[in-house]
Amino acid sequence: MTVEDHAKPWETTRRGLLLLVSSPAGAGKTSLSRRLVADYADMILSISATTRPPRPGEEEGREYFFKSRAAFEAMAAAGELLEWAEVNGNLYGTPRAPVVAAMEAGKDVLFDIDWQGAQQVAEKAPHDSVRVFVLPPSWPDLARRLHARAQDSTEIINQRLALGQREIAHWNEYDYVIVNKDFDRAYSDLIHIYRSERMKPGRNPWLPAFVAGLADED
Ligand code: 5GP
Repeated sequence: MTVEDHAKPWETTRRGLLLLVSSPAGAGKTSLSRRLVADYADMILSISATTRPPRPGEEEGREYFFKSRAAFEAMAAAGELLEWAEVNGNLYGTPRAPVVAAMEAGKDVLFDIDWQGAQQVAEKAPHDSVRVFVLPPSWPDLARRLHARAQDSTEIINQRLALGQREIAHWNEYDYVIVNKDFDRAYSDLIHIYRSERMKPGRNPWLPAFVAGLADED
């Protein structure tokens, strides 16, 4: 898959979109999201704050900003979070400032957040939000993927599966649903959604001037 070049000479302005991707843990949402951000220069990843302790291999500021509960609650009280929710006993939230800065710069923002967060962002920015739900091909497949990651104990994995069941109950609130049976196919589906949504007239404020100028070009 080649990386699309957005730099068209007439494309002087663009209105960013907010791509909200949810799924049960282990369905491949994080890999799909990170690949999209790596391939598209106009898309940035929202890095969440969380009170969950880092897993092995996770780095401050790359996967999350790791906070104490007091520090997280102070951020929420100061209005620094665009949304936040409790997931499995930990708090997770989206820092507001990077999203505002990205939108002002005409960039797109990808959010790897749960159904509660996706719902809050979509309520705040209904015209800019696009919601995508990623489903696993089956429950045994999901359990296998969580065990294969070997990041968590069996008890935690069982908790994550139960949580995943509750997450899946919200699949029908999303604009698009991808079944991640095959990563490349699922990634291709995600690109199609993203590129189609980018072509909506409201996201391309340069269009009226472009259309007006069409007659001038021989
Ligand atoms: P994990 O602990 O596995 O990294 O994430 C647990 C869940 O929290 C996942 O469903 C993930 O998408 C969600 N999550 C991560 N960041 C945020 C956030 O900023 N807000 C909300 N609402 N959920 C988040």
